[in-house]
Amino acid sequence: MAVAEGATPAPAAASATPSEVDALVIGSGISGSSLAFTLSQASPATSLLLTEARPVVGGNVISRNERGYTWEEGPNTFQPAPHIIRMAVDLGLRDDIVLADHTLPRFVYWDQRLFALPLSPNDIPTFRLLSLPGAIRAGLGAAGFVMPPPKGREESIKDFITRHLGAEVFQKMIDPFVSGVYAGDPSKLSMSAAFKKIYALQELGMTQGIVEGAIIRIQQKKKEAPPPDPELPTWKGGALGSFRKGLGMLPQAVAERLGDRVKLSWKLVSLGKESDGRYRATYETPEGTKTVIARSVAITAPANATAGILGDLAPGIKAIEEINYPTVWSITLAYPKNEFREPLSGFGNLIPRSMGIRTLGTIWSSCLFPGRAPEGMELLLSYIGGAQDAAIKELTEDEVVATVDADIKKILMKDGSEVKPVVVGARKWDRAIPQYNIGYWDIMGKAEEAVKEHPGIFLGGNYTSGVAFGDCVQWGIDTAPKVAEYVAAQAAV
Ligand SMILES: Cc1cc2nc3c(=O)[nH]c(=O)nc-3n(C[C@H](O)[C@H](O)[C@H](O)COP(=O)(O)OP(=O)(O)OC[C@H]3O[C@@H](n4cnc5c(N)ncnc54)[C@H](O)[C@@H]3O)c2cc1C
Repeated sequence: MAVAEGATPAPAAASATPSEVDALVIGSGISGSSLAFTLSQASPATSLLLTEARPVVGGNVISRNERGYTWEEGPNTFQPAPHIIRMAVDLGLRDDIVLADHTLPRFVYWDQRLFALPLSPNDIPTFRLLSLPGAIRAGLGAAGFVMPPPKGREESIKDFITRHLGAEVFQKMIDPFVSGVYAGDPSKLSMSAAFKKIYALQELGMTQGIVEGAIIRIQQKKKEAPPPDPELPTWKGGALGSFRKGLGMLPQAVAERLGDRVKLSWKLVSLGKESDGRYRATYETPEGTKTVIARSVAITAPANATAGILGDLAPGIKAIEEINYPTVWSITLAYPKNEFREPLSGFGNLIPRSMGIRTLGTIWSSCLFPGRAPEGMELLLSYIGGAQDAAIKELTEDEVVATVDADIKKILMKDGSEVKPVVVGARKWDRAIPQYNIGYWDIMGKAEEAVKEHPGIFLGGNYTSGVAFGDCVQWGIDTAPKVAEYVAAQAAV
């Protein structure tokens, strides 16, 4: 992948590289950065090294600030949660947290119109996206009239939602949402793997309905929730978060804290084992081959890279090569405000695949976070491609930009608008987001089996933890004490 021109490199390594460490973390994306930072805070005695193949930190997170625009080329926002906000505050980013207005609606484009999705139950009576039969079917499902789950077969998202809320809810609301999160194919994605928490709701109530489950879960969470931390800024449910200069501020702040414990352009090429049970990591670096001996190794590289690194030591790991990562483009375009049919006010618009529009969805970035575009302009981030559009690989950048521009004009601009957009950013993600397809649990079972024989190896990254930014942070927070405990036990031996 090309180097992110706009990403700021982490500080250069200053002191001599330790050839022996307690904890080696591979990959400086959100997963690796969160783990390394948590470990450095909670267990300062554990010596650690965070190594990254690219010359910049952040992995998928690429935030850019140029020509009066602030934009993202990978993930665009996170869902605020105490663990993310706590980490940001601990990193000194309190004043850099930006939270979008939680009342901004999400729109679905259907039959040449935009429909705002309900923000609360009060909006349901005026919600017109569903037909009357579709709404009745969804209501019956919500009331708990749901067929039992199929026995002995993993359910896809499409099957699960259709069983619970009917085909129309799936087609008009869930299909575009799945495109927005996974750029995936809902008839292939496994419900129990891709949306674990929603899947589990059916177990909570008497009716096996997910709406009853959701109500019970909300009550449980209220009881379980610790008192709010007075040190943390507050936010409203439904808000979305970022940082003043974009999401990249978080891994950048981690790199600044860790200083010379971060090694950039260090590509781990193989992992072997010493006779004392420690691991021997061999790197390609600009200064030639380097070797580090480590008690523990946490690997947060994508699945195919991890399979390459661990393949010799634990051949069973190769099962994870089956996890599909489809190609997605992120295209950021800016248009004069006066070219829009209506003034923009919202989170953005999602597009059901059945509408025949190639763009998956568009985030209205300058509405979410004012100040991200020059006066008089709106900044829009669109994603296009994904698991249902393999042919996107063959298109040139100009062709992709032209397609997205035409789709935006159809959905948002005044009729006949011929305005040329400012092309602010265009990035092709050859392997964007891991697909938690049916069969995922079998693959991960094989991976776990393969590494079980090698204590001290921790598998992480978005194909293990969940793909959301917050899931990757949570994995880092949860894994740090496990690494520290393992290292301490080994040191005692
Ligand atoms: C286009 C796009 C849009 C997204 N939008 C959102 C969103 O809006 N909200 C959201 O919550 N999530 C979103 N996501 C998902 C989220 O961004 C990712 O799941 C998350 O950033 C993954 O972080 P990670 O650290 O697990 O992996 P990565 O970011 O992939 O980091 C892995 C790191 O490992 C490094 N590495 C690989 N091989 C080696 C090696 N051999 N040696 C050393 N280092 C190596 C890589 O260079 C990389 O830096 C989006 C993802 C994409 C691609």
